[in-house]
Amino acid sequence: MQRDEPCGGTLYLVGTPIGHLGDLSPRARNLLAAVDVIACEDTRHSGQLLQSIGAVGRRLSFHQHNTRNRLPQLLQLLVARQSLAVICDAGLPGISDPGEELAAAAREAGHEVICIPGPCAATTALVSSGLPSGRFCFEGFLPTKGRERRQRLEHIAKEPRTSVLYEAPHRLLNLLQDLIQTCGSERPVQVARELTKRHEQHVGPTLGAALRHFQAQRPQGECTLVLGGAPDLAGPKLTDAELIKRLQRLITSGTKASEAARQVAEETGHPRRELYDLLHRDSAD
Ligand code: SAM
Repeated sequence: MQRDEPCGGTLYLVGTPIGHLGDLSPRARNLLAAVDVIACEDTRHSGQLLQSIGAVGRRLSFHQHNTRNRLPQLLQLLVARQSLAVICDAGLPGISDPGEELAAAAREAGHEVICIPGPCAATTALVSSGLPSGRFCFEGFLPTKGRERRQRLEHIAKEPRTSVLYEAPHRLLNLLQDLIQTCGSERPVQVARELTKRHEQHVGPTLGAALRHFQAQRPQGECTLVLGGAPDLAGPKLTDAELIKRLQRLITSGTKASEAARQVAEETGHPRRELYDLLHRDSAD
């Protein structure tokens, strides 16, 4: 038997569409239509959706610039046994938006916190990327500059699991360039653009290819980047003969020696210099 919703004194984190309005679930629709108060990341942005479903609850803005002031007011509503829903501009509140802080504060204060699940850009991009999804990391937005950004990039480069990152379109080229510096241009990636919308697009299959694409076509709209994990450097060690075979295969198919050494270095974790030396030793023998 399902519980009655909405319930006074409960915080509901409600998933809303990330583009396609058909993705609003019947449960989310019913709850939003009946709840006492709706905290919206942007009341104007969400106004259209809320109006279309006949939501009558009071709307309050709740975003990264008023979180500190708004939090106590929202908690007070829960104390007064009002039902409270929080929604973000798109997707699941609590993932890279202030819903996270509200959920933590409400739990800390002993209130019931319930998620009405819905679309989330991170998981939507992940499952359509075709990259391993059995184990993955969510990195959200990286710091835009400085040491913290460099450290996060280095950490991501070594991460064996698939990583999911959010980025604003005007910073996408910068992110791809920084990832190429730390992970190499051959690292698999899929950039999911405009998920669930008319112009949904997935761009890959490598960082280098994605960079070339977006250099030719300026990135526009919402983007989520799904990055393949670091190659398994702890895997079986290849013998010199096996490494030379891999290098020769690439060279025979037209790849330059330096590029072949770079590619095999990336695949196997062997230093590029050593591979280059191996090639020279082999051709001198
Ligand atoms: N809480 C939201 C969620 O569950 O997806 C994400 C909020 S975060 C502030 C917004 C970021 O999500 C965007 O900058 C973009 O990286 C990603 N995003 C949102 N909608 C998207 C879409 N339709 N396609 C691709 N990425 C999207």
